[in-house]
Amino acid sequence: MQHFPIFVNTAGARVVLSGGGDAALAKLRLLMKTEAALDVFAADPAAEIVTWANEARLTLHRRALRAGDVRGATLFYAADEDASEDARTAGIAAVEGALVNVVDNLADSAFITPAIVDRDPVTVAIGTEGAAPVLARAIKADLEARLPVTLGPLARIGKAFRRMAEALPHGRPRRDFWADYYFDAGPRAFTEGEEATHEALDRLLTRHLAREDAPGHVDFVGSGPGDPELLTLRARRALDRADVVIHDRLVTGEILELARREALLIDAGKEGFGASMTQEDINSLIVEHAQDGAHVVRLKGGDPTVFGRLDEEMEAVEAAGLSFAIVPGITAASAALAGIGQSFTRRGRNTSARILTGHDMKGFADHEWKTLSRPGEVAAIYMGKKAARFIQGRLLMHGAAPETPVTIVENISGADQRTIGTTLGQLEPDLSNARLTGPALMLYGLAPRAAAALNSLQQEVS
Ligand code: SAH
Repeated sequence: MQHFPIFVNTAGARVVLSGGGDAALAKLRLLMKTEAALDVFAADPAAEIVTWANEARLTLHRRALRAGDVRGATLFYAADEDASEDARTAGIAAVEGALVNVVDNLADSAFITPAIVDRDPVTVAIGTEGAAPVLARAIKADLEARLPVTLGPLARIGKAFRRMAEALPHGRPRRDFWADYYFDAGPRAFTEGEEATHEALDRLLTRHLAREDAPGHVDFVGSGPGDPELLTLRARRALDRADVVIHDRLVTGEILELARREALLIDAGKEGFGASMTQEDINSLIVEHAQDGAHVVRLKGGDPTVFGRLDEEMEAVEAAGLSFAIVPGITAASAALAGIGQSFTRRGRNTSARILTGHDMKGFADHEWKTLSRPGEVAAIYMGKKAARFIQGRLLMHGAAPETPVTIVENISGADQRTIGTTLGQLEPDLSNARLTGPALMLYGLAPRAAAALNSLQQEVS
C-alpha cells in the first residue's frame, strides 16, 4: 500500500487551489462539500467559479498564485492543467508547508483524492493508487447503488441515539438493534420523515429491550420485465434483506439470483397437479411467513399494481395486522415501448393511452371497442395471446382500419426478446404463425420505429 487512506479534518482548515478550468471545477465541487475555507487562484476563472465566489462558497483571487499565498493552508491542489505552471505552484505550496496534489500527476503528488461515496457522515473512499480509475468508478457505482441515500441522515439520527441504545447489553443484542435500524426499520420510517424515524428508534429499542421478536413485514416488489438492470434500487435492497421470496412465474432466474443467499425462494406460479397455486394459498403463504417474523418479499413481474392481483394480497396482509410496502417496478408496456422506440403518448397523435387485459375473470375481456377503433388510439394489451382473434374481430367490426399497426413483443428485455410488427388486419394469422413461447405484449396503434419511418417515407413517395 503506497498510499495510506486517512480522513483529514477540514473544519477550520484552509485549502488552496490554483486553476480555473475543468480540472479545477471537478476538484472544487468535491471540496465545497467539506467545511474548509477555499481559496482559488485563477486569472481566467470559469463562470461557475465566479458564481460560487459570489455565493461566498469560496474566495476567488483573479491572478496567478505567488509566494506567500499558501501559507497556513492544509492542502494544496495544482489544477492549472499545465505542467510547468503546476510545477511552479506546487513548488511554492510545498515550501509553505501544505500537502500537495498535482491533478492527474501521481508522481508529483504527496496525496491523491479518492473516489468518494458520500452519505455524510458516512463516507466511503476508494483508491486504486492510480492504477485503474475505471475500476474505482465501477466500485463507486456499485456502492452508490447499494447504500441507501437515506444512510446519511439515518446515521446522524442514529448517532444521537447511541446513549439510549447503551441500555441494551453489549455485543449481539446491541448489534442486532443497529442492524435492524440501519437496514430495515430506519429506511422504512425515514420515508415518512425524521420525526417518524425518531419514533421508530424509540419503538425499536423498547422491542429489543423486551427481547420481543420483530414482527414480520411484507414488501410487494415489482421485478420489472426480466432484465436485472431494470430493477429499481429499492427492489434490489428488498431482495438483499429478504428472508422469504415468494415469486411469480414471470420473474426470471437472473433476478432471483440477487436474493439474499439465505433467503427461502418459493415459486407461487408453479403448476402442481395441473393447476397453479390458488390465490388463497398464496395469501396464506405470505401471511404465515410474515407472522413468523420473516421479511417477506412478494416478487411480481413488471409492476405489482398492473394486473398483479395485488389488492387481494394487501387485504390479507392488512387483515393479519402486518405492515407492508409497495415497491414499484417497470411494467411490461414501458419496457416494450422502449424496445420499439416509440412513446406511449405523442402530441398530435394520442392524448391518452390504455392498458388493457385480453382476459378477465369472465373470459375474453370487453372494452370500449368503438373508442379504440378511432385513428390514433394506442393501447398496451396484456395477456392478449389467446384473445387476439377476438380483439381483432371486435375492433374491425367497430370500424378500425385494417392497416392500423400492431406490434407484438415477446420476452421483453430478455436476450431472447422478439418483435413482430403487423397490422390489425393481419394480427391473426401473424400471431399464430409466430409460435410464441414466452410472455408477450401487444402494442395496438404503434409500429416499431424503423418500420414506422419506412412507412411514412413510402407514403411521401407515392
Ligand atoms: N405486472 C405485470 C403484468 C402481469 S400480467 C407487469 O406490470 O408487466 C402478465 C402479462 O404481462 C403477460 O401475459 C404479458 O402480456 C405481459 N408481460 C409481463 N412480462 C412480460 C415480458 N417480459 N415480456 C412480454 N410480456 C410480458
